Amino acid sequence: MLAVGAAPLGPKEGQEMRRPLIAANWKMYKTIQEGVQFIESLKPLVGEARDRDILVCPPFTAIQAGAAAARGSGILIGGQNMYFEKEGAFTGEVSSAMLLDAGATFVVLGHSERRHVFGEKDDLIKKKVHAALAHGLKPILCVGELLEEREAGKAESVVRRQVSEALGSLTKDQVGQLVIAYEPVWAIGTGKTATPKDADQMHGFIRGVLEDLFDHEIADRMVIQYGGSVKPENVDALMSEPNIDGALVGGASLKVEGFSRIVNFKR
Ligand code: PEP
Repeated sequence: MLAVGAAPLGPKEGQEMRRPLIAANWKMYKTIQEGVQFIESLKPLVGEARDRDILVCPPFTAIQAGAAAARGSGILIGGQNMYFEKEGAFTGEVSSAMLLDAGATFVVLGHSERRHVFGEKDDLIKKKVHAALAHGLKPILCVGELLEEREAGKAESVVRRQVSEALGSLTKDQVGQLVIAYEPVWAIGTGKTATPKDADQMHGFIRGVLEDLFDHEIADRMVIQYGGSVKPENVDALMSEPNIDGALVGGASLKVEGFSRIVNFKR
């Protein structure tokens, strides 16, 4: 593992063609006013970070105001979930068109809290991925194993199933629009992080699955974020791994100082 503060590493093979994406997942935190204030404060802190994409995913209620605050800054806005139908009697849900209308360009799909708190299954997540792409919204597909699955030696088979079920029926053009986030469930919100090497190994495995499903070029081009207790103290080491192209950040994205340091990671 690269110690924090060690000499920065240069980009590795494949890294140059993949633009890093650092995303904030605010979950069910922040009012409209708090969200706008955060984005206004973030802008000057990340103005120099032109070689990477920055995405903020507020709760639905703050998407429109967040998008207005971010306009012209390069900061992108995303939703944390959506339903696959265009419209209808689906109380409590929003569609991809509604997210786009509010100013989102990305949507997080299959987050572990959607899978394990709200019971979403691979089949539903696949429908959401298709619907998002059909409307021009970029999905971030979250995959990752539970602790018991890792301990039972099933981490790779679980992740292979999640990736294959959600993406297997997409065309190469469609899959090229998408980002994957590897988030081991046992590392989300727990303070436990996969070591950079373990995370990199799973990212490499995911590229292998993509190569099996599509081809080498798709596998090499795919941006794969890591998520699970990413913080200012560990982001540089994680981002120095050759297969880690970004971070999906929950808890540490709620404070602008910490999140801006994560955005300004050094390899
Ligand atoms: C997440 O919400 O996707 C996440 C990874 O949370 P945390 O950074 O708090 O572990």
